Amino acid sequence: MGEETNETPHPPATAEFGYVTRDGPIHRYPPAGEVRVAKLSVGEYDNNVYVVESGGEAVLIDGAAEPDKIIAAVSGVHVKAIIQTHNHLDHTGALQELVDRLGVPVLAHPDDPMPVATEDLGEGDSVPVGRATIAVMHTQGHTPGSLSYLVNGHLFTGDTLFPGGPGNTSGERAAFDQIMRSLDRLFELPDETRVSPGHGLDTTIGRERPYVEVWRSRGW
Ligand SMILES: [Zn+2]
Repeated sequence: MGEETNETPHPPATAEFGYVTRDGPIHRYPPAGEVRVAKLSVGEYDNNVYVVESGGEAVLIDGAAEPDKIIAAVSGVHVKAIIQTHNHLDHTGALQELVDRLGVPVLAHPDDPMPVATEDLGEGDSVPVGRATIAVMHTQGHTPGSLSYLVNGHLFTGDTLFPGGPGNTSGERAAFDQIMRSLDRLFELPDETRVSPGHGLDTTIGRERPYVEVWRSRGW
C-alpha cells in the first residue's frame, strides 16, 4: 500500500473541474463578473495555460509551450502581459516566441529567473486587466519565486496547490515546510474559491480543506 494509503480524493475529469486535453477544445469557465477565463493544455507535460480576459484586454498565465496554440487562443483580444507562476522549464518554453510575436512584457518573481527579460512581481502587487484586477500572492515552496494569482474568486496556483495536495518539494523538508506555510495562506480564502493549477484538473479550496493536515503530517 505505501504512500497510496495517504492519497486524498481527486475530482472527476469533468468540465466542472476544468478538464482539458492537449488535443481537445479550450475550456471556457462560466463568466465571473467582468472576467472571462479560458484554459488550454499545452506541451508534453500537459501544462495549463490560462487566458484571463476583461474588457477586450487579456493576461496570459504561463507561457508554457505550443505558442501557436496560445496565440490562437487570444485572437481578437489585446494581450497586455504574460504573468508567470514559476520558472520550471515546462512553464516557460513558449515565452521567447510569445514575447517576439505578441510584443508583451513578462512579469515574474525575481527569485525565479526566466529565460526572457522580466518585470518584477511580488506579494501584494496587482495586475490590472480591463475592468478587473489580478491580486498577486508570493507562495514560495515549490520554487523560491512561485506566485499565485487571484481574480474574482478564481485562484491560479501554478505548481503550488493541486487537487490532492501541494506541489512537489523533492523531499526537501525546508521547502515542504515553506509550501505548507504558503498553503496556510491560500486556505484563508473562502471555500468556494476555484483553484486552477498548472497541470490537470481544478478543485476548490473547500474541497481540499479537510485534507490539509493529512498532507502536513504525511510530509508530501
Ligand atoms: Zn514546477
